[in-house]
Amino acid sequence: MVLQEITVARADVLARIAAAAKSVGREASSVELVAVSKVQPEERIAAMLATGQRVFGENRVQEAQSRWQARRQAGLKIELRLIGPLQSNKAKEAVALFDVIETVDRMKLAAALADACAKAGKAPRLYVQVNTGEEEQKAGVAPLDADGFIASLRRDYGFAIEGLMCIPPAEEPAGPHFALLAKIAARNGVTSLSMGMSADYETAVMYGATSVRVGSALFGARG
Ligand SMILES: *Cc1c(COP(=O)(O)O)cnc(C)c1O
Repeated sequence: MVLQEITVARADVLARIAAAAKSVGREASSVELVAVSKVQPEERIAAMLATGQRVFGENRVQEAQSRWQARRQAGLKIELRLIGPLQSNKAKEAVALFDVIETVDRMKLAAALADACAKAGKAPRLYVQVNTGEEEQKAGVAPLDADGFIASLRRDYGFAIEGLMCIPPAEEPAGPHFALLAKIAARNGVTSLSMGMSADYETAVMYGATSVRVGSALFGARG
């Protein structure tokens, strides 16, 4: 039952991504579906894997370790993306586990990541989180500080910044926030855009998202 439900949900999301992409003249294959697995029960995770989904997003380091580390060690090939705030003192664990860290937003964290990468001899792909709505409670660099921050990451640490990520304010139309993120990326020569969640991923694709982070529309509501 769960497998069928999840299979249908994923096919629907993929079809909607493809339709949104086509509506603006993009290839469906230019958008990566990141399945946000945080808090989901084991049965649903197993079902999602059975559909062939291989890219997952998590927002806490420890939760991601407990969900994915053993599977990884058993040989499962998946791509894991950290999409939640990261504390500098967890940089080492994050570098060990994640293929992509989407929430770089301060120099102290960048320094900790650079140190962790040097020690581990490996480096995750990095995204800068931009707080497009300049919300007090939200992580991310302010839009006006983004250019300088990206320049510092490149200059001080030699980081190749793969993309930008944003979470628009819940109560506002998302389109202008996606447009702002795309504009900041373009003027900084950054090519990937992580934007769009269950409520607005089709809009995000129309504004140029190269990956969408979808949780509840794929797995069902979080408990
Ligand atoms: C939880 C979460 C998502 C997924 O949210 P849904 O609305 O369930 O699709 C996407 N991005 C981030 C950063 C999240 O924390």
